[in-house]
Amino acid sequence: MQTLHASKCGLSTAQLPSYILDVIDALTKAGFEAYIVGGGVRDLMLGLNPKDFDAVTNATPAQVKEVFGRRCRIIGRRFELAHVYSGRELVEVATFRAPPKKAVTSASGMILRDNNWGTIEQDFARRDFSINAMYYQPRKGIVLDFCHAIDDIKNKTLRLLGDPTLRFEEDPVRMLRTLRFAAKLNFSIAPDILEVFTPEMTQLLRDISPHRLYDESQKLFTMGHLNRVLPMLIDFDIWRQLFADIDPEISTFIERAAINTDQRIQIGKTINPAFFYAVLLWKPFLERCEFYANKGMVAAEARAQAGLDVLKRQATRTIIPRFAETFIREVWEMQTRLLSPKPQQIQALSTHARFRAGFDFLLLREKSGDQSTQGMGTWWDSYQLMSTDEKERAISQYNRQRAKSRRKAQTGDVVEPKSVSVEIEPLVQETAPRSRRERSRDRSKPERPVQMVTSGGSEIRADHPILKRKRVKRDLNQVVFGPTQ
Ligand code: ATP
Ligand code: MG
Repeated sequence: MQTLHASKCGLSTAQLPSYILDVIDALTKAGFEAYIVGGGVRDLMLGLNPKDFDAVTNATPAQVKEVFGRRCRIIGRRFELAHVYSGRELVEVATFRAPPKKAVTSASGMILRDNNWGTIEQDFARRDFSINAMYYQPRKGIVLDFCHAIDDIKNKTLRLLGDPTLRFEEDPVRMLRTLRFAAKLNFSIAPDILEVFTPEMTQLLRDISPHRLYDESQKLFTMGHLNRVLPMLIDFDIWRQLFADIDPEISTFIERAAINTDQRIQIGKTINPAFFYAVLLWKPFLERCEFYANKGMVAAEARAQAGLDVLKRQATRTIIPRFAETFIREVWEMQTRLLSPKPQQIQALSTHARFRAGFDFLLLREKSGDQSTQGMGTWWDSYQLMSTDEKERAISQYNRQRAKSRRKAQTGDVVEPKSVSVEIEPLVQETAPRSRRERSRDRSKPERPVQMVTSGGSEIRADHPILKRKRVKRDLNQVVFGPTQ
C-alpha cells in the first residue's frame, strides 16, 4: 500500500462540495475512519467532473445511523448501505466489506448475499477496477493506493483487481462496466481482461435481472460517450445480451441519435434515456407494423400492437419501466400525427406534451436520410419559429398541398370525416388499472400466449392478451448487486 499526497494527485478540498466534506467530518468526529472512494476520486484525478461522491467507513450502518440520526436511512437487506442526507444531497455511505462467504454464492459463482463487514484492505479487494479503488481522506490530504492505481490513471488503463475470469463470474455486470469506463474515460482495457472477455463470457449476463440490466443500459446511454460505446457493445457481443431483437449494426439514425445525446449532455441539457430506446427499437417496430399490416390489420391497431410486442420482447432483456414504455410508444405514435396532421390540429399538436420528443425524433429520422418523413421534420422545424400570421399562412399552404396530393393519389373514395375539434386524441391507449379482484383472478389463470393475429377491430380491448405482459421472474430477492445497488 502506498500513501499518496492528495495535492500531488491534483486533489484539493476546494474541489469538493460541502455535502461530502460534512459527511466525512461527522464520521471522523465520531471516531470512525471515513474516505471518499470510487468514481468521485477517479474523476477528480482525471480532471473530470464527478457525477457524485461515495463515502466508505469502518462504522457499521447502525453506527452511521447513530451519527446522523434522522438524516440517515439504512437501505438494502442483503446489501446494507446507509443513505445520508447532507443538505439537499444524498450520500451513499458504505461500510468496509469482507469477502463473501462461500455459502452465499450461486452455482455460477455469483455473489448472492453480502453483509460481512471487514477491513479497508478487504474492502479494496472487493472493488472492481484499480482506478475505482483509491481511498481519499480529504482532511488528511492523503490517498491510499493499494495497487498502484495511480500508474493505471497515468497510463490510462482499465485493470480489474484479481483474476478477470473470477471477477466477471462473480458479477457479470462488470463486463458492462468495463466498456462503460473504457468509453467514458477513453482508457484501454488491460490485455488480461480482453483475453477472457469472450462471447461465451457475455452469456453470463443472461443470469442478471432485466431490471438491473435496464439500469446499466441507462448508465451507458447517459454517460456522455454513447457514440463511442455503441461499437464496443457490438464488438464484445454485449449488444445481443442487451437488445435481443435489434440488429447489431449502427444505422445512421442510431449514430445521429447517439451523437445528439452526447452533445446534449455535454452542454448540460437534460435527456430522457427512453428516447434512445425509442430510436433503437424503431426498426423492429416498423417491421412489426408491417407484419400486422400484411395480415390486414387497420394501421392504428397495427401500430399499437406492434409497439406492445416490441417492448414486450425487449423486456426479456431490459425491463423498461412502464412510464418510459408509454413515452416510447407516444413518440412513435407522434410520428404518424406529425407526418400528416389535420390542419386544424397543427397548433394543438405543437403544444402537446409529447411534441418536442416526437419532433426531435422525426427530424433525426429525416436528417439521417429517411425519406418517408416527406420533409415534415423541416416543416415543423420552421413552423415553430414563425409568427402567428406566418403560421396561419403556412397552415393554409399545407392544407392546399395536402388536398392537391390527395387528389393526385385519387383517394376520393376515402373521405375523411371533417373534424371540427382541435383536440388531440390520446397518443396511446393505456391499460386500465386493474382491480385487486381481477388481479387475483388472473393469478389463478395460466398466462395466455401473445396473440399475433389481427382481431379486426380498430381498438385494442383492455383484456387483449397482448396487454398482459408477463414480467420475467428471476430470483431477485436472492441476488445482491454492486455496492451502489
Ligand atoms: P460512476 O461515475 O458511474 O458513478 P463509479 O465508479 O462511482 O462510477 P458506482 O456504480 O457509483 O461507480 O460505484 C461506486 C464504486 O463502487 C465503484 O467505483 C467501485 O469501487 C464499486 N463498485 C460498483 N459496482 C461494482 C461492482 N459491480 N463490482 C465491484 N465493485 C463495484
Ligand atoms: Mg459513483
